[in-house]
Amino acid sequence: KKMSVQDVLSQARGNGVEFIRLQFTDLFGMTKNVAITVDHLQNALENRYMFDGSSIDGFARIEESDMILYPDLDTFQIFPWTPSNGRVARLICDIYHPDGTPFEGDPRYILKRVIKQAADMGYTFNAGPECEFFLFHTDETGKPTTQTHDMGGYFDLSPMDLGEDARRDICLTLTAMGFDVEASHHEDANGQHEIDFRYDEALRAADNLMTFKIIVKTIAKRHGLYATFMPKPLSGMPGSGLHINMSLSRDGENVFYDSKDKYGLSREAYSFMAGIMAHIRAITAIANPIVNSYKRLVPGYEAPVYITWATRNRSPLIRIPSAQGEATRIELRSPDPSCNPYLTFAVILAAGLDGIRQGLTPPAPVEKNIYLLSKEERQAAGIGSLPETLYEALQALQDDRLITDTLGPHATSRFIQAKLKEWDEYKQQVHPWEIQKYLSRY
Ligand code: GLN
Ligand code: MG
Ligand code: MG
Ligand code: MG
Repeated sequence: KKMSVQDVLSQARGNGVEFIRLQFTDLFGMTKNVAITVDHLQNALENRYMFDGSSIDGFARIEESDMILYPDLDTFQIFPWTPSNGRVARLICDIYHPDGTPFEGDPRYILKRVIKQAADMGYTFNAGPECEFFLFHTDETGKPTTQTHDMGGYFDLSPMDLGEDARRDICLTLTAMGFDVEASHHEDANGQHEIDFRYDEALRAADNLMTFKIIVKTIAKRHGLYATFMPKPLSGMPGSGLHINMSLSRDGENVFYDSKDKYGLSREAYSFMAGIMAHIRAITAIANPIVNSYKRLVPGYEAPVYITWATRNRSPLIRIPSAQGEATRIELRSPDPSCNPYLTFAVILAAGLDGIRQGLTPPAPVEKNIYLLSKEERQAAGIGSLPETLYEALQALQDDRLITDTLGPHATSRFIQAKLKEWDEYKQQVHPWEIQKYLSRY
């Protein structure tokens, strides 16, 4: 379905839409939006909505601040939870300069550029995310706590049901908005959930993920809960990952599948995987972009630490699900839901395509428990590790030409600058752990 300006206008008018949110995502994965009334919709649909880009983190400098939103008409959606006498709809937008050229720091544009490279090679990139999150109680002032809804027990009515009701309501809302929800379940940790929806072509998949997060937070709030995508909110508990299942297709056929291979994978699948493994340390800066991301990437919680692949589940970086044929795919397990999905898909795809171009071969799979290998044994086997801190990841990013070229100079410098500042701020904090450990001891 390709929507025209007229289609959007008549759908908006015909459904009692009063407000339209023009949405986009900043470099750091935050959804931004401006609401316009339906009377101004036509103007916006004709790419005339101008805003001040200098007020958005990581965007323009003051002296070049005018930007224009170009709505992607196919993303028109009505929020089903809004009142029928004043419905709210949204459009996801691309960002352009007033001279009609795309803004080089727009994450959606950065992804589109790599998608174009893939298309030139004959490929469509499909991504199916599995997003984990926590539901927490809020305090009397409405602020989120780290109290999970299914841990309390002594003071509550039926807290377990509260979480399940919220999750069911989230799934119903997703379905009403056109998502194909494939599975939803309670995850390992108290208060932790996962909802999986059907894969899509990468740009749509990234749009969907941004929409997904808004819906989860909105519906959780209606149930008096706070949904967080923070990667590791609780020490000693599993963190929240954003596993990404991916494959390439050509003319509608999955090119990752080869029935003759031991693991059912094609030459292209192996090279794609090898490309990701070669660049994963830099990719990590984008896929795991906050200080807290690295508290998740530690042994013992089913999150990857070492750069390996496997078919059996031993918490490798890349797992090969047993599904075959059209469903053949590889699953990258390192990303977490704090990432910007546009940038994350862009750098993953760029690395995978580079692997194909260069005909790279991945190392042998490691099916044994890597956590039990010593450092020497890992080194002998040539097994590298993911960065252990945001700082280490940023250094890897700075040194990776393919990945910085994919992001472009504008996004690369804004991203690194902002993230180094974040790291610096963190570095100067005295953590409660240090007080507990050292104060009375020294
Ligand atoms: N929560 C785990 C992670 O951090 C994944 C658990 C699972 O889905 N097997 O990635
Ligand atoms: Mg899963
Ligand atoms: Mg899971
Ligand atoms: Mg998974």
